[in-house]
Amino acid sequence: MKVGVLALQGDFAEHLSFLRRLGAEGVEVRLPSHLDDVDALIIPGGESTTIGKLALAFELLKPLRTFGQTRPIWGTCAGAIFLSTDTLERQHLLGLMDITVERNAFGRQADSFEADIHVAALDDAKTPFPAIFIRAPLIARVGPNVDIVAHLPNNKDNGIIIAAKQGHFLATSFHPELTGDDRFHRYFLSLMKT
Ligand code: GLN
Repeated sequence: MKVGVLALQGDFAEHLSFLRRLGAEGVEVRLPSHLDDVDALIIPGGESTTIGKLALAFELLKPLRTFGQTRPIWGTCAGAIFLSTDTLERQHLLGLMDITVERNAFGRQADSFEADIHVAALDDAKTPFPAIFIRAPLIARVGPNVDIVAHLPNNKDNGIIIAAKQGHFLATSFHPELTGDDRFHRYFLSLMKT
C-alpha cells in the first residue's frame, strides 16, 4: 500500500513516520506526477491558506480533485479545511467533502489544548483517543452524505463536530499524527480496502 502525504507545508513528516510505523509506504506528494501510483492521500495540518496557494502554484488543484474521485483522502486540521467545500472565507479549497468548516474556532495558538474523545469507529473504542487541537477548526455543517465520526463534548448540546467521514473522505479537526496513538491512521488505511 502506497500512501501519499501532501508535502507542500505543515507537519507532513509526522504523518510519514506514522505510516512507516504501520508498515505502509509513505511518499511525499509535491507535484501532480507524484499522485500517479499512490493509493490514498493524507493532507497534513499547517496553514490551509498557504497549502491552497502552493497547490495552485504547483498546479495540483485539479489533479487532487480527480484523485479524490476514486481514492481515499484524509485531511487533518488545515488538511480538513482544504478538503472541505466551504470555510466562509475566500481561499483555495478542494471542495471534495460536503462540510462547512469554521477556522480557528477554538482561539489562537496559545489556546491549543488536548482532550480525550470517544470514537466508536476506532479499534478498542472504549479507550479514549487523545485529540490535540492547535488553532483548530470545527465542522459547522455536514452534508446529507456525511457521517459524524467524533464530537467534542460541550455543555450546550450534543457537542461540537470534530471528525467526519463521507465515503472515502475523512476529516479530523485535530492532529492524530502528533500523538502516540495510531488508531486513526489504521482507521484511514482500512478505508483503502472498502
Ligand atoms: N488554523 C489553521 C488554518 O486555518 C489550521 C491549524 C492546524 O492545521 N493546526 O489553516
